[in-house]
Amino acid sequence: MAKLTLFQQFRIFAAVEIKKTEQATVVKHTGSHYLVSNLPEWSLITCVLRGKLRLKEGVTTNPVAVGDRVLYESEDEGRGVITEILPRKNYIIRKSTNLSRQAHIIASNLDQVFLIVTLNFPQTKFEFIDRFLVTCEAYKVPVKIIINKIDLFTKEYDQSLEMFRHIYNESAGYQIIEVSGLKSINIESVRSECRGKLSLFSGISGVGKSSLINSLDPMLALKTGEISDYHKQGKHTTTFYEIHPLSSGGFIIDTPGIKGFGLIEMAKEELSHYFPEMFRLLDHCRFAPCTHTHEPGCAVKAAVEDGSITEERYVSYLSMLEGEDKYR
Ligand code: GDP
Ligand code: ZN
Repeated sequence: MAKLTLFQQFRIFAAVEIKKTEQATVVKHTGSHYLVSNLPEWSLITCVLRGKLRLKEGVTTNPVAVGDRVLYESEDEGRGVITEILPRKNYIIRKSTNLSRQAHIIASNLDQVFLIVTLNFPQTKFEFIDRFLVTCEAYKVPVKIIINKIDLFTKEYDQSLEMFRHIYNESAGYQIIEVSGLKSINIESVRSECRGKLSLFSGISGVGKSSLINSLDPMLALKTGEISDYHKQGKHTTTFYEIHPLSSGGFIIDTPGIKGFGLIEMAKEELSHYFPEMFRLLDHCRFAPCTHTHEPGCAVKAAVEDGSITEERYVSYLSMLEGEDKYR
């Protein structure tokens, strides 16, 4: 073999020793590979996980989740090796199965969660909504409520809409967006809420989540439809969550087939921290900590009496306080 020039030697040395480390977000997990992209850029790199990261034993079944910021060593032709998972701003998990103690991270580093509800056809139960909201609060993920199927509202349902707004917006302080996916009413405001953010869409089956995503971005509907069908094949298939770019800006994650997120373990005294309208009054209770049940001089009970905290939310709170073991 001919002797290499100094320059050639250096090039070989550089290729072996100096690998470029880049930062990106995990947008999809395919089982053996992770697709990453440096959001908001959409240019996918196929990565594998460095061995030692894979082996880390934890309470979660997946060491890397969609939304994770990672460092990877780039190789040629759009490939790389993930070497580090950067600390998560937040994440949401659910139990792998009902019996399992292990949890699956659905997604991390979310800017917001949209809980899609319907007041009729089907009605989303307050109990479900409140548990969902508490879980998001506990995970430190901002949550907004989308009321879908607003086209069905007639005079007779106006009252239930008024009541819903009072409970969740005026008293609890959650932003509510009223839309119709089917009739494309007010979809632009959902688009504008999504711009520049990573958003997760959730809701019980039948609320029109697929139709809503379809009207947000028709290109995307095809893809999310595939996921839903895939999921329906059986309970043994694993759902791989995925980040999709919206053509109007921002990124979304769909959660097909999710009935709710597991409530994370918390002390009884802590539960009211996740009801914003109660948390606000924390310093006004005579006793600290206060469970807002039997304690004298309780500001929360006083607020329920004067109507600034709604009965509905307080009843939910009490039921979660008593029944919390069931939901762990
Ligand atoms: P998903 O299970 O949440 O994904 O719900 P789908 O998108 O499959 O919708 C469930 C049903 O509700 C379908 O029959 C839709 O046509 C209907 N639907 C969805 N969005 C709307 C809406 O905005 N208004 C009305 N009236 N029906 C809707
Ligand atoms: Zn109290």
